[in-house]
Amino acid sequence: MRLIMLGAPGAGKGTQSTFFAERLNIPHISSGHLFRKNITEKTELGKEVQEIISRGELVPDRIVIAMMMERILQRDCGRGYILDGFPRTYEQATALKHALLEYGEQIDHALSLEVPDELIKKRMPSRLVCPDCDTSYSALNNPPLVPGVCDRCGAQLVTRADDNEETVSKRLETFHNETEPLKDYYRRKGILIEVDGTKNPDEVYKDIVRALVHHGNH
Ligand code: ADP
Ligand code: ZN
Repeated sequence: MRLIMLGAPGAGKGTQSTFFAERLNIPHISSGHLFRKNITEKTELGKEVQEIISRGELVPDRIVIAMMMERILQRDCGRGYILDGFPRTYEQATALKHALLEYGEQIDHALSLEVPDELIKKRMPSRLVCPDCDTSYSALNNPPLVPGVCDRCGAQLVTRADDNEETVSKRLETFHNETEPLKDYYRRKGILIEVDGTKNPDEVYKDIVRALVHHGNH
């Protein structure tokens, strides 16, 4: 199964992707995580994107597309994958489509997590993220079991540099302008599934599973 996660920053894409990756035993590929890893490891790519990301802007399409296609074509992706944070522009969506077509493949579902801006702005300041495995936590509806510690790998949780109020507003604006129109693109293809992302993560997960079953492909 090849899935795409759409939704505003902080909508819960990463959390839901993790659930699905475990359940379906397919890789969870997060563009943001790949960038952050490159930034921490101070790679050439990391140096190129660091400033852009800290401003809350989008990394140029050609850079993202190259990085993601390289990842998608690795062997562990043969049975499918969950894309989290990519595609984020029309350009990226069509590049993905054409690249997959060369292998006779296509995306099965695009899941859109619906969360109003007001709730996003409430969630972000309390978001904590694991610097090692990139799992996100929120004091509001999914706190870590031990305060300040990652449930999955035990690392000390941190606040993301781009989760401040100003950058979040910028990212939301970019989301509405660039990424939200992709919903129409996938709706026209008949593969868009919209889910209420305001509930707690377990309920959202159940709603997605229900919607997938309803769409007859699970
Ligand atoms: P969020 O979904 O919380 O905004 P991500 O971790 O997905 O955060 O992405 C963090 C940042 O990485 C984005 O604000 C953007 O600068 C960059 N980025 C990630 N994915 C893409 C993409 N597909 N296209 C362009 N830039 C991206
Ligand atoms: Zn972790």
